[in-house]
Amino acid sequence: MDARRAAVLETLGVDRFVARAPPVAGGVAPAGAVSAPGWDELAAQVAGCTRCGLAATRNRTVFGVGDRAARWLIVGEAPGADEDRQGEPFVGRAGELLNSMLRAAGLGRGEVFIANILKCRPPANRDPLPEEVRCCLPYLHRQIALIGPQLILCVGRIAAQALLGVATPIGQLRGRKHVLEPHGTPVIVTYHPAYLLRSPGEKRKVWQDLRLALEVTRGRSA
Ligand code: SF4
Repeated sequence: MDARRAAVLETLGVDRFVARAPPVAGGVAPAGAVSAPGWDELAAQVAGCTRCGLAATRNRTVFGVGDRAARWLIVGEAPGADEDRQGEPFVGRAGELLNSMLRAAGLGRGEVFIANILKCRPPANRDPLPEEVRCCLPYLHRQIALIGPQLILCVGRIAAQALLGVATPIGQLRGRKHVLEPHGTPVIVTYHPAYLLRSPGEKRKVWQDLRLALEVTRGRSA
């Protein structure tokens, strides 16, 4: 990012987050590198990936689904048991609620791309380890570079903290626009659908987040 753009963002009160340099080892080049893989090669790399210990316990990798030219990219934490069995992110009850959230924003599931920070399920749905995030995040960054979304909707504390590289509580990450570098992509943070299933009273806040996401998207389309 050049100094002028950084100064404008600072004036607007927008937080910028620079992606931690993705490791090159293991065949996943950082976004923008000459050897950056296309979709088919990337999918094959993920399907055969053994870069972290989760390769030993997964049933299936979960690459992500949806429109590869989507305006919105939805980013969650990691596959759960259903996702690990089916190879698709956000299925089951949390997936149905995510679909409802998207419908509230005027979007069908097929109009967005849905992916996770981790492509393999942590055993017993434990939180991802920092080393697992470090190994897997380059795949997501390559997906972001290939899709070129107008907006990333990050669902849940763990996904938001991993993507933005912060330890800030989700309550402080919500309600404002972040910018993920090197892509320059706006990021809006909201609650994970699985949390909403346990705390339905928070749905109002999610609607506020979706409205903010729509405003940001409209601003980029104008
Ligand atoms: S979680 Fe990511 S880095 Fe780890 S084995 Fe699966 S695809 Fe590879």
